[in-house]
Amino acid sequence: MVTSNFEYFAPTSVDEATSLLSKYRGEAKVLAGGHSLIPMMKLRLAEPGILVDIGQIEGLSYVREEEDGVAIGSMTTYREMATSSVIQSNYPLLADASARVADLQVRNRGTIGGSLAHSDPAGDIPAVVLAIGGSVVARTRRSTREINIDRFQVDLLTTALRDNEIITEIKLPRLASGTGTAYTKFHQPASHYAITGVAAVITTSGRTCTDARIAVTGAGDKATRARRTERILKGKEITPAVIRRAASRAAAEIGDALNEDIHASAEYRDHLTQVYAGYAIEQAVAAAG
Ligand SMILES: Cc1cc2nc3c(=O)[nH]c(=O)nc-3n(C[C@H](O)[C@H](O)[C@H](O)COP(=O)(O)OP(=O)(O)OC[C@H]3O[C@@H](n4cnc5c(N)ncnc54)[C@H](O)[C@@H]3O)c2cc1C
Repeated sequence: MVTSNFEYFAPTSVDEATSLLSKYRGEAKVLAGGHSLIPMMKLRLAEPGILVDIGQIEGLSYVREEEDGVAIGSMTTYREMATSSVIQSNYPLLADASARVADLQVRNRGTIGGSLAHSDPAGDIPAVVLAIGGSVVARTRRSTREINIDRFQVDLLTTALRDNEIITEIKLPRLASGTGTAYTKFHQPASHYAITGVAAVITTSGRTCTDARIAVTGAGDKATRARRTERILKGKEITPAVIRRAASRAAAEIGDALNEDIHASAEYRDHLTQVYAGYAIEQAVAAAG
């Protein structure tokens, strides 16, 4: 449980950090809260020669209301998100999911940027951000780009981020009026990682669903939109039968790639995903009023 040798840098600005990533491209890794990277280094699943600790950079930890939504600095911790009144009122599912990550120690250190960049198949935040929509702002030494969240999670522990880029901000759109949200998860009791988790953002007009974004985590290689579930909901009057039918398709996109491990078989995960999708849809519809 000892890491391989590495050189440690603690830059105090994003420019300095991105210059280090360019200089040591391919060798360097960003260190944020360290609650995924350090365990991986101790297990020798990651052996970066250079660590660029972005924890000393001021101005990367904030929750800011903007005209068209909310901007969250990449170093904002789970605890800060769980207790932020702006997040609680605009995206209750993000506050709720953040409060249910791991334990207080992890929530005090783990960051939204780290969670998205790590793209753990059982991570909570990637599914929540996917259901809300929005984008990830990534900077290199010379440029800044915004990556739509639908294109960000690529595969197991793999994102669209390049190895010379740092996530600086996550942009979330303002949700339409009549939108309700929910995050439900069946978690591993020790780590609290999702065996399955479902994030739902549903807009209604009267009893009719006018829009829906549903994302599933824990069940497959990465957080995934449940587009078939969304299609069943959209334009329909929400009845218990429609919810049951929509929830039954929640793992359809994951298909044969359902995870199977010591915690749950693929068949059990499929079942749990359907059950927890039903809960998430019911709760989001109730919240939409
Ligand atoms: C005991 C335990 C229980 C846990 N339980 C849960 C759980 O229930 N739910 C859950 O979702 N997670 C859980 N986690 C994981 C935790 O949420 C991590 O904190 C998170 O996945 C990574 O965030 P971090 O800030 O610690 O990133 P780090 O560990 O520092 O980095 C993770 C990866 O992201 C990259 N990275 C980090 N920040 C940036 C950035 N700004 N730009 C570019 N790349 C970046 C790093 O280079 C690294 O590859 C648990 C972890 C532990 C140790």
